[in-house]
Amino acid sequence: MNEGIGYLTQIEAIHEQTRRASASFLSGSSEQLNLIGISMRALYDISTCARGCPGGDHTSQYLAGRAYNLCSAALSLLRIAYYDEALNEVRSLGELGNLLSLFWTEPDEIDRWRSLSDRERQREFSPAAVRNTLKTRSGNLVMDDYTYRELCELATHVTPQTKPNWHNDFSRPIVGGIPQTDGAQRVLERLASVSAAVAVGYCMQFNVKDLEEQIVATAASVDGIEFR
Ligand SMILES: [Zn+2]
Repeated sequence: MNEGIGYLTQIEAIHEQTRRASASFLSGSSEQLNLIGISMRALYDISTCARGCPGGDHTSQYLAGRAYNLCSAALSLLRIAYYDEALNEVRSLGELGNLLSLFWTEPDEIDRWRSLSDRERQREFSPAAVRNTLKTRSGNLVMDDYTYRELCELATHVTPQTKPNWHNDFSRPIVGGIPQTDGAQRVLERLASVSAAVAVGYCMQFNVKDLEEQIVATAASVDGIEFR
């Protein structure tokens, strides 16, 4: 009786242990975590109209809410050491970031995106089409082709070489979550740079100067992140 529920309870107990192990494991990455936290704060404030409601249909705010939720899910998965799955969230965030970047570069595009049929929108605003359009219009690519394809192969689509949650050098795929330095670092680096790029773009669009400045200043202390 209730054998399945008992199994799920065991898994949750393991997740709790892994969260504790990850907390000390991640304590050396406080700058990246700080940047992710400030970026999430900005996305939350903008998506919930916490600093005032500009009116309108709130499409941008809903997309900011999706971005916040993707960041939050990636962090939760990072803490239970599900690195492939966290990277899948980061990939979705990068895809959303590129779409937002296109709307910010070419403001008429959001109206076109809204007005197309589902089939037309899927074709004209596919992730690859959005990246190609951004490249021809000098827009900011939040996630470039190389990173997007890398995450597609690693975290989203299976291939004959798929090995789950393999982010270690002892040749062992992992079923479930075990803290691994390489996996945690990969998630943190990607999540910090993509969440900051999305959040700083939103801050500029919504004139949230204080958080924009905090994100830019914090990003300057994190290796490998620069804003154009
Ligand atoms: Zn509002």
